[in-house]
Amino acid sequence: MKKKVAVVTGAGSGIGKATADKFTEEGFQVVLADVSETRGKEVEAQLKEKGREVLFVKTDVSSYDQVQHLIEKTVDTYGTIDVMFNNAGIGDMGSILDPDLDMYQKTIEVNQHGVAYGIFAAARKMVALNVQGVIINTASVFGYMASRGTFAYQASKGAVRMMTQTAALELGEHGIRVVGIAPGGVDTPIIQGYKDMGALESLKRKHLRNELIQPEEIAGVAYLLTSPDAQAVNGSVVMADDGYASF
Ligand code: NAD
Repeated sequence: MKKKVAVVTGAGSGIGKATADKFTEEGFQVVLADVSETRGKEVEAQLKEKGREVLFVKTDVSSYDQVQHLIEKTVDTYGTIDVMFNNAGIGDMGSILDPDLDMYQKTIEVNQHGVAYGIFAAARKMVALNVQGVIINTASVFGYMASRGTFAYQASKGAVRMMTQTAALELGEHGIRVVGIAPGGVDTPIIQGYKDMGALESLKRKHLRNELIQPEEIAGVAYLLTSPDAQAVNGSVVMADDGYASF
């Protein structure tokens, strides 16, 4: 059977790294994209060590030129693109009354524009190659529920939710599915940066298991969404939050 080709952004750490591992374990050829060359190369080496087919392409998703180059490189190397996982994101926080404009803009550029650029570049290539592909975007429960001190992050993740819906509507006629994943708190460096142990404990208690979700669990959901068995899932964002947003 022909191998699926996937691009995973933010593949140098956390959810992206776990997804690259899962996809390649399932036989996909995966292009790893990350702004950090060190992390990206490290993951590339670890996966190659396991005999997986991967290629790291240093990419800042907030640059449309770099995202277009990423897609070109993917097709030059593996001949096609079946799955685009727009996952890279940053978790900077900030107050409304004392806004840090640089941080606000950076968050929107990476978390929102980065996903938009991934959708634009991957969709254009999938249509040109007549590929019935799947585009997956990482949103967050914070795209659904308000939270204090996370204004830019909330705005960016709300945008991911609507971009997913709108892109699915426009790309459906080309056989391209667009779906999202909204994780709850996942045990990755974004969360591991929490200095306040009280805040970390209270975050854990938002989940039915009273624990953070493991990145491999989100990778599992991403893999399920690539399956033709999931073809009825389109335009929606799947909550992968251990009940966080439900109760
Ligand atoms: P992480 O920090 O472990 O990994 C993020 C990766 O993205 C890093 O390797 C980083 O170098 C890369 N990255 C950052 N900016 C980039 C850019 N401009 N271009 C390319 N790569 C860039 O974080 P994670 O928890 O794995 O986060 C992955 C996604 O999941 C993000 O979109 C995040 O918002 C989302 N998310 C995380 C959680 C959580 O609790 N960890 C919850 C909900 C949603």
